[in-house]
Amino acid sequence: MIYDLLRDEIKGFKNYEVSNIECKYKMDANEVPFSLPESTLENLQEIVKSANVNRYPDPVSIKLRDKLAEKCSASKDNILVGNGSDEIIHIIMNAFVSPDDFVVYPVPSFSMYRVYSEIAGANKVEISLGEDYHYDVVEFIKSIKEYDPKLVILCNPNNPTGTTISRDDIIKILEVNRGITVVDEAYYEFFGETVIDLINKYKNMIVLRTLSKAYGLAGLRVGYAVSNPEMIGCLNLVKSPYNVNSISQAIALSVLEADTVKDRVEYIKNERKFLMDGLSKIDGLKVYNSQANFLLLKFDNADYVYNKLLEKGILVRDFSGDNELSGTLRVTIGTREANSYFIKCIKEILS
Ligand code: PMP
Repeated sequence: MIYDLLRDEIKGFKNYEVSNIECKYKMDANEVPFSLPESTLENLQEIVKSANVNRYPDPVSIKLRDKLAEKCSASKDNILVGNGSDEIIHIIMNAFVSPDDFVVYPVPSFSMYRVYSEIAGANKVEISLGEDYHYDVVEFIKSIKEYDPKLVILCNPNNPTGTTISRDDIIKILEVNRGITVVDEAYYEFFGETVIDLINKYKNMIVLRTLSKAYGLAGLRVGYAVSNPEMIGCLNLVKSPYNVNSISQAIALSVLEADTVKDRVEYIKNERKFLMDGLSKIDGLKVYNSQANFLLLKFDNADYVYNKLLEKGILVRDFSGDNELSGTLRVTIGTREANSYFIKCIKEILS
């Protein structure tokens, strides 16, 4: 069997689960409910034409890096662009993590930290988030001292809990970790706090960002790493040459120039409060405070609620069978219409 030829690390893997259920209200994948900005839509033909798709894309995304650098007060030499930040996590593993190295990350968190660690054949050190899914910095520091890991990953705000780690606690970790520290800021825009300003002080830190969330470009697959030039050079050693296609580069540039993200983030933050307030008044569920564009909800009967929501045309992410997240569902903040309907449905289901 071909399966027998797989590397031992890969045997037993399951495919990344993505729900293909068609639903009127898609609130499962932390996307935003907006289409491209008007100015990008109006110029789409020109943008696609100028992308010259008969040629290979710019392998180092120079124009896009320039624009991203401007947005985060860095230089283009501080930036690497990836096919989603997902690819960059993989690049970091490929560059730095050998079999049997230690990788430290929180659980529950973004599932790909575990998957890419396993592909690398690393020893996983999974640090349980504490009560109400808050980061326990003491546990992180204890593990770093014990295992001297090659890589520590922090997700801030954390997916799927929406909880955060403070800047002071990140610094405490940076002060003790001799390996690489990744701070995944995929949901930064909904939170507003960053550690990008520390990239020159802590040369072993990489900050990850994405255009998939606040910028609404999940389908284009554009993520980026921000770090010091030596680190970016190391990551470039293992990056596939043409990892970001030319249409994605061109549309991403246009969207960054359109500068609509602030208003859109304000809208989502306002809706987060609306949803949080509405759900908090309902008996029979617990709502976790979130700094991202989703809320984690805990129910006595999460399975039942998930299926009832589906019947009513709402798709959320079901974590109820997950060890660290039992009884929980994650709902992505949507439009006012979607959020109002969601509250109404939860009331009906729990009544
Ligand atoms: N990091 C976190 C914390 C995420 O939640 C996600 C997507 N769910 C990613 C990275 C990957 O995002 P993308 O590949 O779309 O940039």
